[in-house]
Amino acid sequence: MIVVIGAGIAGLNAALTCQRAGWEVLLLEASDRVGGRVKTDFISGYQLDHGFQVINPAYPEVKRLNLKLQLQSMEAGVKVVTAEKNFIVADPFRNPKNLLSTLRAPIGDLKSKSSLISYLVKKQRVGIDSFAADLNSQGVSGPLYEKIIRPFMRGVLLGELDQVDAQVGRELLKFFAKGTPGIPLNGAQALPDQMAKQIDKLNLNESVISIHGKVVTTDQKTYTAEKIIVAIDGANAANLVPEVTPPKFNLSTTWYFATKERILKDKFLIVDGQSRGPIVNLIVLDQISETFAPANMQLLAITTLNPCNENEVKAHLRLLLGKLPHDLELIKEYHIPRSLPVFTPNSIRPNFQQTRDELFIAGDYLSGPSQNGALLSGRLAAEAAIS
Ligand SMILES: Cc1cc2nc3c(=O)[nH]c(=O)nc-3n(C[C@H](O)[C@H](O)[C@H](O)COP(=O)(O)OP(=O)(O)OC[C@H]3O[C@@H](n4cnc5c(N)ncnc54)[C@H](O)[C@@H]3O)c2cc1C
Repeated sequence: MIVVIGAGIAGLNAALTCQRAGWEVLLLEASDRVGGRVKTDFISGYQLDHGFQVINPAYPEVKRLNLKLQLQSMEAGVKVVTAEKNFIVADPFRNPKNLLSTLRAPIGDLKSKSSLISYLVKKQRVGIDSFAADLNSQGVSGPLYEKIIRPFMRGVLLGELDQVDAQVGRELLKFFAKGTPGIPLNGAQALPDQMAKQIDKLNLNESVISIHGKVVTTDQKTYTAEKIIVAIDGANAANLVPEVTPPKFNLSTTWYFATKERILKDKFLIVDGQSRGPIVNLIVLDQISETFAPANMQLLAITTLNPCNENEVKAHLRLLLGKLPHDLELIKEYHIPRSLPVFTPNSIRPNFQQTRDELFIAGDYLSGPSQNGALLSGRLAAEAAIS
């Protein structure tokens, strides 16, 4: 038997991979649901992901799963708000109706705009360590960088671009160029839920407290396993397995606000081109799918990175919208201290770890700060365990 610990998407993919290869698998999850950081709450008719997240259909690991996620797509592009004017920068191929707006966007001349395309097709330059330096070295600089790429990618990486490894940043930006992300009709948790349905033996509410050799002890039982895959977040994994180095995490907060005033009609991710406050990005969820909010309600998902309070968020929102709806109400706030593992420049990404003959470690912190990174890590750890 193989015991997989942690039913986040890394653990789910590890369990599925072993099970499909004919192994008996037991998946142990400490909490009362699968998905780890990919969760959805349903509160008074609102569908709220536990931290705003999107799924990119271009992720190779998502494609391999062949699930029916019914992705509700955003528009391929970004709406940039500044004190002077708002403009849209969209992919001309996927979003030709916004071609004119994109060409007119005040983010430099055509040469500067085309630098992004050449950045996406060229290979990373040797000797460049941070994502910001990599972009700048290829001409993605000036207003294109400051007004679009930096604000957009800060929201993806949940951190600053000069603190991120060049390869990690480039990989994620390329995924956005390839696929238009969306939210499953039933929320991000549809991804782990559909994976979990295929698992034969899954115990929820059972927390692993120690691993000694091939013996896994939980708060309820002891199991002896041929192989063990630890797929829990890096900080907790380091408590169970001393060979694991706990990663640093970026924190984030998602604020869900509702109003009866239909003040926004955009399906684009909205960013502040002048970074005038704590909001990193804003998305109008009822425009992505009307099922995400009760009838006639507008639902905004706002992400912030640094600790701030509701008044500071509202003050920034007022700048972005020009005014605040009089009935704007905070529905829910998710503060997630361990949102994304930090991959600092020149990070080593082993994808998974094998610490003993029978012990394998998986999770996004070993592979990449994304669903694709977590899924890949889980699959590769499992393939190594059963090889
Ligand atoms: C706010 C936010 C926004 C994000 N946005 C995106 C996005 O738009 N696109 C994208 O690709 N990625 C995004 N991500 C990243 C993505 O969600 C994660 O990379 C991925 O879910 C990590 O999965 P994991 O399985 O490695 O870890 P986790 O999800 O952390 O799963 C670990 C699991 O182990 C369980 N566990 C812990 N300890 C024990 C124990 N002792 N015994 C048993 N079980 C245990 C936990 O309960 C949990 O279920 C976002 C993340 C956050 C937080």
